[in-house]
Amino acid sequence: MSKNNGSIPNNLSLVEKAIKEAKAPNIIHHRGDLNKVTSDGKEFTRQEYIIIPTMGQKVKCTPYDNHFVYRDARKLGWVLFCTCGSPAVVINYDAYKNHGSSQGALLACKAQIDTNEHNPVNR
Ligand SMILES: [Zn+2]
Repeated sequence: MSKNNGSIPNNLSLVEKAIKEAKAPNIIHHRGDLNKVTSDGKEFTRQEYIIIPTMGQKVKCTPYDNHFVYRDARKLGWVLFCTCGSPAVVINYDAYKNHGSSQGALLACKAQIDTNEHNPVNR
């Protein structure tokens, strides 16, 4: 087995390469507007629900105060993000049925789930 020197191996599929090469989105926050960001040059606004084509349904977005989750379909690989720069994930938890998600699914910030905090902005 060859030693991994940090470069990306040639035997990966295009999707695998895209995931390995993926970088956190370049997010520009608009001063005084918590409902709009520019991510990699495209503007995204806060949504209550986001359609997840692979699930065939819309999923309620967790209503954070300072951040929101969005879907950037231009990307190959991960397409769900939080405005803190973290990937976003769909969680299914029965307790959330009582918090406004009729289907028991929520789109949430992965950093916030893992650490109870969003990634620091301007890191
Ligand atoms: Zn976040």
